[in-house]
Amino acid sequence: MGKMSDTFDAIVVGAGMAGLCCAGTLVQRKDKRVLLISETAEVCHNLSSQTVGGCRGLAQWPTWTYAWGGGWWFNLARQLDVPIDMRMKGETYSFALGSRAVTTIGILNCATTVADLLLREAPPAAQALRPGLTAALQRAFEIPYPEMMTLNTTLLADWLKQHEVEEPVCELLFGFFSNVTMAASIEECKRNISVYGSLGHMRTSFGGEGTQVIVKPDAQLGLGVPLRRGFERAGGVVWSGKKVKRIIIEQDVVRAVEMEDGRIADAPDISLAVGAPRLRALLERLPEEFVQPLAYAQGVHQVEIGITTVLSRQVDWIGHDAAIHDGKGSNLVWVVPIYKVAPWTCPDGKIAIWADFVRRELSDFEGAKSVEEAIPVCNQILEQVYPGFKEATVAQSFRSHRHLWQLQHYAGPKVPLRIGSVQGLWYSGDYSVACVGGAGVESAACGGVRGAQALMETWR
Ligand SMILES: Cc1cc2nc3c(=O)[nH]c(=O)nc-3n(C[C@H](O)[C@H](O)[C@H](O)COP(=O)(O)OP(=O)(O)OC[C@H]3O[C@@H](n4cnc5c(N)ncnc54)[C@H](O)[C@@H]3O)c2cc1C
Repeated sequence: MGKMSDTFDAIVVGAGMAGLCCAGTLVQRKDKRVLLISETAEVCHNLSSQTVGGCRGLAQWPTWTYAWGGGWWFNLARQLDVPIDMRMKGETYSFALGSRAVTTIGILNCATTVADLLLREAPPAAQALRPGLTAALQRAFEIPYPEMMTLNTTLLADWLKQHEVEEPVCELLFGFFSNVTMAASIEECKRNISVYGSLGHMRTSFGGEGTQVIVKPDAQLGLGVPLRRGFERAGGVVWSGKKVKRIIIEQDVVRAVEMEDGRIADAPDISLAVGAPRLRALLERLPEEFVQPLAYAQGVHQVEIGITTVLSRQVDWIGHDAAIHDGKGSNLVWVVPIYKVAPWTCPDGKIAIWADFVRRELSDFEGAKSVEEAIPVCNQILEQVYPGFKEATVAQSFRSHRHLWQLQHYAGPKVPLRIGSVQGLWYSGDYSVACVGGAGVESAACGGVRGAQALMETWR
């Protein structure tokens, strides 16, 4: 490609769901040339599944918040006319490891349903908390969703104080949110979780205002790749397997991106769609808008390990995914019997289970110094959940990501969509002020679409 063809109207750096949704929205302006840069050979690497023992270790059920303005990636797929083969995800369970009490979370349609759930396994004395708990939850359900979308920098702890919610009720709520958001601990949840990250998450993931879907064959191949094709069909350009070395900024005006291989692409507008830990490396001098958010993100510690295990026989006691907690609320692991939830991933009657562990530090896995050292500790927990697990294990693989996905649920400062101190620099990654409307994939998509919309305002 000659120098002329390396000039674009807009460049999006990072081809996860956020970057894909940003680029897919921008490309709908037919007169604009849009480049999407994917570090990996295929887009949405983080949505891919690992194959182990002949099974596809499915790890991602993209959230879709249809009641919050229609859903972000879903609407984009519709606009680009991209068919997605997906199924509704079924019920989620909560499981206390010590007592082995199983609670079906179900659809939490109103305050009383949630109160019933939270009080089901609480000691008898906690029943006295019902009126206060129901009143607090009623307020949570009354928040209009556009307002909820602004509450991603408001601490839940402050909101509860403002509404004079009594301490024991707060404890019950923090226990629940710590488990279902997989915060590293209840304390971590109290210190950081936002109103959106807790009450909004409850309403979208369990309260009927959104859902999670299972994409065939997995979220990368069945959602990311078709969206990429839709983007290209609309005239967008993808550079695959290419890492951006730096963003070239001259006198506070964005000029170009320089690739690791020396290639340069220039554009008057560049949008960054990478997660918080990767931002600093792209910018020689950190614009002021990034300083506080990145300082906050640096204080958020999170280790995530996903393990897929193929078993010789059935060892599970529940038919769907479950948040396993320690009896007080701190999440120990999220487990999914993928052979039941997504049978196409396990051919010939194979049995596979996926498990995801989140902790603050590696050392929280009994002093582990590496992910490899943490795996036996994870397997010990899985053995407690599923007696016979170790003996039935035929094959196993694991993956650990550095991306801080929990940041979407946390109330710290976030990056604005427009980086005002540098002309032409934008942010559309999953750590922006716009990143709400569901957890994970949907938040990233929300950041991408709204980041593109902000940029397009200047194209009018
Ligand atoms: C194990 C696991 C399970 C999960 N389960 C769910 C789930 O069930 N439902 C759900 O909704 N969410 C889930 N999530 C979260 C969800 O995957 C993420 O929130 C979402 O994928 C984030 O998308 P993103 O585009 O913001 O970030 P990313 O996917 O991290 O994309 C950013 C991209 O930027 C690229 N990049 C960074 N630096 C450069 C550079 N210098 N040059 C070029 N490219 C660069 C990276 O390669 C990356 O592809 C899960 C996450 C994990 C790890």
